[in-house]
Amino acid sequence: MKKESQNGHSFFQNVERYFDKATNYLSYDPGLLAQIKACNSVYQMRFPVLVEDKKTGNKSVEVIEAYRVQHSQHKVPCKGGIRFSPDVNQDEVMALAALMTYKCAIVDVPFGGAKGGIRIDKKKYSDDTLERITRRYTTELIKKNFIGPGIDVPAPDYGTGEREMSWIVDTYVAFHPGEINAYGCVTGKSIPNGGVRGRREATGRGVYFGIREACNIAEDMKKIGLTTGIEGKRISVQGLGNVGYYSAKFFVEAGAILVAVAEIDCALMNPKGMDLEDIMKWKSEKGSLLNYPKAKVVKNPGAALEVDCDILIPAALESVITEENAPRIKAKIIAEGANGPCTPGGEDILLKKNVLIVPDMFLNAGGVTVSYFEWLKNLSHVRFGRMDKRFTENTNKIFVDQIERVTGQTLESGAKLLLEQGADEEDLVNSGLEDTMINAYQQVRHVWKKHSKIKDMRTAAFVLAIDKVASSYTTLGIWP
Ligand code: NAD
Repeated sequence: MKKESQNGHSFFQNVERYFDKATNYLSYDPGLLAQIKACNSVYQMRFPVLVEDKKTGNKSVEVIEAYRVQHSQHKVPCKGGIRFSPDVNQDEVMALAALMTYKCAIVDVPFGGAKGGIRIDKKKYSDDTLERITRRYTTELIKKNFIGPGIDVPAPDYGTGEREMSWIVDTYVAFHPGEINAYGCVTGKSIPNGGVRGRREATGRGVYFGIREACNIAEDMKKIGLTTGIEGKRISVQGLGNVGYYSAKFFVEAGAILVAVAEIDCALMNPKGMDLEDIMKWKSEKGSLLNYPKAKVVKNPGAALEVDCDILIPAALESVITEENAPRIKAKIIAEGANGPCTPGGEDILLKKNVLIVPDMFLNAGGVTVSYFEWLKNLSHVRFGRMDKRFTENTNKIFVDQIERVTGQTLESGAKLLLEQGADEEDLVNSGLEDTMINAYQQVRHVWKKHSKIKDMRTAAFVLAIDKVASSYTTLGIWP
């Protein structure tokens, strides 16, 4: 069950150690803390699926191993992604579910934490097979009442996306005819299947907003030897999937320089900067970054973690920064796009080197924040902005006309357009996300600065999260 990481502790044990460290700064009843820390429900399943080998076309029945873990029901529904990976195991899913509880608390999303995983190498299977596996997994969740808009709401994670979420909603709806809120059973769906605009980019955009907020604080930047702002900062990104690509995109758009990227088979490096879209075009045409002509290609993808840069964004999998490679890491900021990229041993070394680690449970919370907006859209059965966009535009137009009439001047056309526009769904989603990430960063930083003994932002984030979860038990009178 346990997956050993570099320090001899499993991923879930590492999360528990972070939790225990944070409780030194809190004074809740030990029973309450034990309840918050525990994984409430663990559903391990095995089911047979007719699989088709992608290369040979041969068909056979395979028994698939899968999990769904609900870490906490202090608020319902539970929420968390579904991962497709050959490394999925119970311990990993438990760790990721626990992180979801704390993540939701930090960004004030009213959900308990959950996570799911199917232990498969999706590259091996045809699309038809992946659809059968996803639909059967959903059916298993339905059978045990582990999915539903008020029970547990999955979302995309490593190896899954809009397509898989759309298969899930279609299966759920087929089993729940007439359930008016059925589309709220999963988030990260495609737009025609009840998704929300901005969800695809949300985690990466949230990573950008979170780091931008960190980089705007002169006092904190001075401590790590950086100037404020994103422009001109050198970034390195591990993993060009959903989180990595969109994070890189928003940083580059803000003027950052992409000096390294890593994918599963190699790393690309160029200290002068690289063109992200050109790299993505090469990746989609060739199926790999190998032989990319406009950068140095290094066969070891881990090299991108050690490159000379200001901000390192691990956005692939957990336990990639360890005691072994941490001494060679040169970045001043680690922006944890992935869940659990640093082991505690790796983190200790980085903290001694005065590196600012902006922790996963805050930084990649943009995905669940916008999933919350999608769920609200599904429950309200109306697109954000539909009722008031035109009204706002008409009112703004009257206001602008008045300004022009009173001043006798005509406003510049671009500015006029901006002043007159009403917000559509994507504007509202992005604005809600930006506000959430800024507020959450300031809350975490407040805890960090308030306790002089807290040396790192992760401990502060755990303190904030545990405090919020605990108060939801105590204010309800469930706990003394
Ligand atoms: P994804 O499947 O879209 O992309 C992951 C990418 O990483 C793939 O392109 C893969 O080839 C690459 N990769 C795998 N191993 C690698 C290695 N050793 N070196 C370099 N690249 C490697 O997955 P994702 O959704 O972007 O998730 C990435 C991480 O972010 C995971 O830890 C996930 O839990 C976390 N996360 C995802 C979301 C989300 O909304 N998708 C939200 C929060 C956190």
